[in-house]
Amino acid sequence: MQTRLLASIVFSLILSACLQFDLNWVDAQTRQSRSARTTSARTTNKQIAQIVREIDGRNIEKTIRKLVSFGTRNTLSEQNNPNRGVGAARDWLYAEFSRAAEQSGGRMTVEKQSFLQPKAARVPEPTMLTNIVATLKGTQPESEARTYVVSGHYDSMCTSPTDAKCDAPGANDDASGTAAVLEMARVMAKYEFEATIVFMTVAGEEQGLLGSTYFAEQAKQKHTDVEAMFTNDIIGSSLGGNGVHDPVTVRVFSEGVPSNESPEEANTRRGVGGENDSASRQLARFIKETCQRYVPGMRVMMVYRRDRYLRGGDHIPFLERGFAAVRFTEPNEDYRHQHQNVRIENGVQYGDLPQYDDFNYIANVARINAAALAALASAPARPKNAAVVTTRLTNDTELKWDANKEPDLAGYEIVWRETTSPVWTNTRAVGKVTSFTIKGMSKDNFFFAVRALDTLGNRSPVSFPRPVR
Ligand SMILES: [Zn+2]
Repeated sequence: MQTRLLASIVFSLILSACLQFDLNWVDAQTRQSRSARTTSARTTNKQIAQIVREIDGRNIEKTIRKLVSFGTRNTLSEQNNPNRGVGAARDWLYAEFSRAAEQSGGRMTVEKQSFLQPKAARVPEPTMLTNIVATLKGTQPESEARTYVVSGHYDSMCTSPTDAKCDAPGANDDASGTAAVLEMARVMAKYEFEATIVFMTVAGEEQGLLGSTYFAEQAKQKHTDVEAMFTNDIIGSSLGGNGVHDPVTVRVFSEGVPSNESPEEANTRRGVGGENDSASRQLARFIKETCQRYVPGMRVMMVYRRDRYLRGGDHIPFLERGFAAVRFTEPNEDYRHQHQNVRIENGVQYGDLPQYDDFNYIANVARINAAALAALASAPARPKNAAVVTTRLTNDTELKWDANKEPDLAGYEIVWRETTSPVWTNTRAVGKVTSFTIKGMSKDNFFFAVRALDTLGNRSPVSFPRPVR
């Protein structure tokens, strides 16, 4: 057991050194992993590979050190001091996203989304909160309303969430996620995508997910088609409090049973399964597959739960409103460096300080995010109203779905797996149709789903069918 652990740590170290010094290695691995794919042979999207190459850990380090220099970013801290407090961070981020937007030819707009938060458990007085929201508009008229959101929270806390004066560097929680989102915006602003991508940094996470709740509620009220949301929270360190150094793994948390499941949907799920097939779980699988293709030196560890014990993140307000959402977090956390006053106690350094960040690791997590976002926003929408027809008992499986409307649509693929498999294992192209019967394969024995692909080979996440009569 110990030898195995040691071997895996040594392997991890070698892998991380490679990643640091030779990005061409990533390309070589991309080709290798592509040939090993089981679900289907695919062409590489050159734009996505280019985006992955352009993400730079040095920019991420600069952003984190700048955010830490504001002393604290507690949501209740000073709003009008240019050097210290949450207001300084807000204005600096707004300026940086605006600079990124300059390369977009007017397609990226940056907004300060401000609102007055009433008194709440961790908000003793009504307080103005501001999310920085950079929207890169999609270029295909049929897809521009389809929106993908990537987020990190720029607020921070020390031991007490309501202490607005203490130093709260928040280098990992969550300058790491904030810096990753800013770097993605900087790199991706100059590229065109068919669908819209929102690069967001929110406040009030430590006060109770307040900034993300506001954004998600606005999106729901405006009927914004948020097809997916990623939160990046605590993606900063490759060394855990358990002593394990793992710079190649990132956890992606996805819920199985939807937070907003209706009683009817729950009945169906109890009858024929589906607890492992929420839209968020399909998103996690899509991210894992995209990582294998474009950032093959890294590994997505899917975690089949909404979040960690005793914790919750900014994806939850989205899930509660029916949007698919996942959380990215480092593989092993160190609780001495989260939510702690900066101090030395019995020779142990506490506090969320930048020396515990691994900037190259954060860059790799940003690469996985960017590749997945670019893949989503380049592909057609997932097919709507996917259904499995259940009018009679049969050993065949009949699926149907609504037609996609993208002009570059090439057709659809049906995927399936055994009911105990964590990922889709088989693919069958079925052409430009809106129904298909798989002869001799029983829907009782496999899970099926359908996805759309365009003429360049970009594929949507899958839609898991609901039973219809
Ligand atoms: Zn956090």
